[in-house]
Amino acid sequence: MNTAEIAELQRQYLIPTYAPGLALVEGSGATVWDAEGNEYLDFVSGIAVTNIGHCHPKMVRAVQDQVETLLHVSNLYYNEKQPLLAKALAEHSGLPGAKCFFCNSGAEANEGLIKLARLWGSDKERFEIVTMRQSFHGRTLATLAATGQEKVQTGFGPLPEGFVYANFNDLQSVDDAITSRTAAVLVEAVQGEGGVIPSDPEFLPALRKLCDERGILLLCDEVQSGMGRTGKWFGFQNYDVQPDAFSLAKGLGGGFPIGAIVSGGKLADVFQPGHHATTFGGTPLACSAALAVIQVVDEEELLANTMMMGAYFVEGLCEIAGKHKKWIAGVRGLGLLLGVVLDVPAAPLQKKLQEKGMLALATAGNVLRLLPPLNVSQAEIDLALKLIGETCAELHDEMAAQSPNPCECGAGE
Ligand SMILES: *Cc1c(COP(=O)(O)O)cnc(C)c1O
Repeated sequence: MNTAEIAELQRQYLIPTYAPGLALVEGSGATVWDAEGNEYLDFVSGIAVTNIGHCHPKMVRAVQDQVETLLHVSNLYYNEKQPLLAKALAEHSGLPGAKCFFCNSGAEANEGLIKLARLWGSDKERFEIVTMRQSFHGRTLATLAATGQEKVQTGFGPLPEGFVYANFNDLQSVDDAITSRTAAVLVEAVQGEGGVIPSDPEFLPALRKLCDERGILLLCDEVQSGMGRTGKWFGFQNYDVQPDAFSLAKGLGGGFPIGAIVSGGKLADVFQPGHHATTFGGTPLACSAALAVIQVVDEEELLANTMMMGAYFVEGLCEIAGKHKKWIAGVRGLGLLLGVVLDVPAAPLQKKLQEKGMLALATAGNVLRLLPPLNVSQAEIDLALKLIGETCAELHDEMAAQSPNPCECGAGE
């Protein structure tokens, strides 16, 4: 089928929650191809999912082997891949006494974290969760309530109670939100959907201290910032902080759906048989995919590559931003979770990049979010910089005209 045929079939039969434009049919590394055979540099990576690139041979082999051996058994039975994966995550997390629970998605992992915090708090009559404005935690009812953005909640009330919002990177605001009913603070080390906003260097450590003082839990949503995306295994490790538990999904399975709760020793035995369950979570297949991802990130030293390529990319992006000060405010992020912050909507830039053969995301209205695979090469970053540089030059007059930024410095120079 060509793109028009696929689009028509989708229009007839899919509930229109998305409005895609491209039909992608094949991928390899940081490259994808559409139904017409056009090639794209993929700096979306399925939204921070295909972190070791498309169809990495080790991942393909691990999944193929497992498919031929055992796809699924219930969690009523042992399946050795599950404790092996849990061990790898526990060790990489650095949390003493860490244990895992596997599920299928980010929302489900956060839903489980919320249940875990509530169960922990139940005998103390603590049930409220403080989350951050502009956060994103998923689309189930509880995670929607946790997500501090009205626009995703509108029309879906009544939402589950017990969520209180504070301002990200504002300790006083979190402090003000904590009461005798608070069980936990849930936070992203880097807000992804919120516009690629890293925690300030002092914010997460201060939050850890605050939670300890108040006797409540610190929970991290590592669904987007986890699995090496920020140059450390988990985003909070950039801040020398240990949460009481954190959630994972997106990059964990490298494209195979799997989510997880990783809990430190304090919470590791709060859930007992009957408290929480899942049919599909942690199948041999999903765990094999995730084990392959971890093995590749370790063996190919992709954390180091993420730091190196991230720094290189930021340098190039800042150079481009410097030429368009009238409408590009700057560059932010950690590792290869990067955003170019504009003074104008990012969609025109994202669209034009796509026409030129590069996929990126327009996030939170005015941020161009860039999520290359962690094994991206310098040549691929150079190509991205060339395409972004050209596109910015072509759009300069149009974007500058829309910009509310009064600063004339550097415009067009
Ligand atoms: C994507 C995302 C989620 C939701 O994950 P799903 O797998 O889509 O349910 C939750 N938290 C963060 C930080 C995310 O980026």
